[in-house]
Amino acid sequence: MSIPDDCNSSSGFDEGDLIRRIVAGDFVDPSTGQHVVLPIRAIRIATSLDGGEADLLAEAGITGRLALIADAHTWAALGRRVARNLRHSFRLDVIVLRHPKADEASERHLTERVGSADALVAVGAGTINDLVKAVAARSGRDYTVFATALSMNGYASNAVSLFTDEGMKTTRPACSPRGIFIDLNVAADAPLRLTCAGLGDSICRTTVQVDGLLSHQIFGTPYSETPFLLQSGDEGEMLAAARGYPGRDLAAYAALARILVLTGIGAAITGSTHCGSMSEHLVSHTIDMFAGDDHPGSLHGEQVGISTLAMAHLQSEVFGREAVPEIRATRFDSEAIRRRFGASGDACLAEFRHKVINALDAARLRDRLQELWPGLVASLRAKMRPLGDLVAALEAAGAPSTAADIALPVDTWREAVRYARVIRNRYTVLDLADDSGQLVPFVEGLR
Ligand SMILES: [Zn+2]
Repeated sequence: MSIPDDCNSSSGFDEGDLIRRIVAGDFVDPSTGQHVVLPIRAIRIATSLDGGEADLLAEAGITGRLALIADAHTWAALGRRVARNLRHSFRLDVIVLRHPKADEASERHLTERVGSADALVAVGAGTINDLVKAVAARSGRDYTVFATALSMNGYASNAVSLFTDEGMKTTRPACSPRGIFIDLNVAADAPLRLTCAGLGDSICRTTVQVDGLLSHQIFGTPYSETPFLLQSGDEGEMLAAARGYPGRDLAAYAALARILVLTGIGAAITGSTHCGSMSEHLVSHTIDMFAGDDHPGSLHGEQVGISTLAMAHLQSEVFGREAVPEIRATRFDSEAIRRRFGASGDACLAEFRHKVINALDAARLRDRLQELWPGLVASLRAKMRPLGDLVAALEAAGAPSTAADIALPVDTWREAVRYARVIRNRYTVLDLADDSGQLVPFVEGLR
């Protein structure tokens, strides 16, 4: 199964033919043979979009009274310009949030403030995008996003990540935007750290695909090649071009922008975030959930980047062995989990119990692995990108590649990798490694 070359010839500083075909409804999902139909009406990646904002909203089918939502930084970076250029064509309310967080309290606050707006315009990146997406989904409004940074891959997805009031980082269904607009000059003016975070959030294709295929082959969980095929045309270029971020090489920014958008599209097509978030994201979420005062203020994508390297390393160890792993009943301590996760401890345990296996389950899984192992590891190895390629891209961009680089205490880092498996009912290399006695020694070796 492959995507024909002619629909992946993304060249120059634009969104590329593949994205254009998807938006036009002209893309057939090779996994299903069905035309892909998404709510996204317009995606534009260009050197500059200055002056074209109203036309872009019209192309996205946005009408009526608008609320433009930004924070102080994204207002200065792009919001002011977008507001000025939209006021000629739209009735527009401007909401500049102070210190917004991607949590339920901020969502409630924004819901009250958007008032009678018919549609929402997000100007920002991770937090603003998630908050506006969440409010749009709850209220049934259309929204579009003008990106201010290439810091994460959630622009196109139909899910939203928010902290609950109890402190649990959750992902819940939402709706993709009507339009996604990325002005590369604006993205290249964003702090380099944000772009490096976007790279970190994108290199996880390899660990995500290996975990997804592992779960599918052992347990028959849903798995589609399509999200990964979508990225295959740009991934090599994105990694090779990462060294161009510090010098504002717009071709490098365009390659990253396409991958970020295509990752979200993959989630929207499959209706699941499994294609963009597996063991490496569990580790990152766990850092956020229990680092507490030790949290160094690192960004999601920075954490995903270093977690991806760790999980790629673990996968290469676990699936590099010819011997079938000796699976045993899951050993865990409910009280220790409650202590570590505090108010969200019970919610974690509810997720984790789906994956806990007893002695009988373990015997069955051993038999299953005995039968599958040589073919399973061969198929997983075929999806892995060499760890050295990922490290080289992060280092060339100037992105963090170790826990020390993000000032995360090594004990917190080890604890996050040790306990990440409990926060989601998603089977990954962490589960196989832990139930076969390989996780604890791996964690002890982490630096
Ligand atoms: Zn992510």
